[in-house]
Amino acid sequence: MLEITNLHAEIESEGREILRGLDLVVKPGEIHAIMGPNGAGKSTLSHVLAGKPGYLVTEGTATLDGVDLLGLDPAARAAAGVFLAFQYPVEIPGVGNVTFLKAALNAQRRARGEGEISTPDFMRLLRGAAGRLEISQDMLKRPVNVGFSGGEKKRNEILQMAILQPKLCILDETDSGLDIDALKVVAEGVNGLRSPDRAFVVITHYQRLLDHIVPDFVHVLAKGRIVKSGGPELALELEAKGYADFAEEAA
Ligand code: ADP
Ligand code: MG
Ligand code: MG
Repeated sequence: MLEITNLHAEIESEGREILRGLDLVVKPGEIHAIMGPNGAGKSTLSHVLAGKPGYLVTEGTATLDGVDLLGLDPAARAAAGVFLAFQYPVEIPGVGNVTFLKAALNAQRRARGEGEISTPDFMRLLRGAAGRLEISQDMLKRPVNVGFSGGEKKRNEILQMAILQPKLCILDETDSGLDIDALKVVAEGVNGLRSPDRAFVVITHYQRLLDHIVPDFVHVLAKGRIVKSGGPELALELEAKGYADFAEEAA
């Protein structure tokens, strides 16, 4: 599904290389966790895959079901099925959450040559997903993420995911700043979206999220590359030993 080969990327304004030859293959139905020290390039990887401006890919490829993602604009990547849940979800003053979700879904459907969803169908979809994620009517009516707590913003990211039904879901530190109850709601939301034709890349600094979203593979990202891969036990090893060894390996 996702195939990343020798990906090199730099911060456009500084010409500083952050990703330094990253390789990753993710198959449908799989959950891959990416862990690593702060500043390793985890968010940069998610931003580069989603097409956030400000990064320059200098070498390598990233394809989704054979489609060159790096050649698409961010909207086309979303239509192709890529969804990024941001580490720091953005607030959109003046745009109601429901309006935003419906517009996002319809933009995706138009880009795929499908008709717009009917209001009753949309409301049914929204009510189901919001209920599972314990998202209140009040949160749905407010402008996107404005005045939301950290936990509410993260749940709202998962709600967007549940509405857009992406092929590839990238979660960038969706656990950061969450208490254990919010973490469980987010994890259950993600687990409810698991399917044989959907894959997840879960970026996290800490192991505890992976008690609730159990990955098939765990990778260590250090200094811009994957320096070690293993199963869920690798996350426990990292929790016990920290990242110091792996930072050395990459150097
Ligand atoms: P991680 O998510 O693993 O903590 P990041 O990908 O956020 O790491 O950052 C990797 C490096 O790139 C850091 O040194 C960070 O300061 C730098 N960086 C990331 N984005 C930008 C940006 N937009 N402008 C300048 N530096 C950036
Ligand atoms: Mg960080
Ligand atoms: Mg980050």
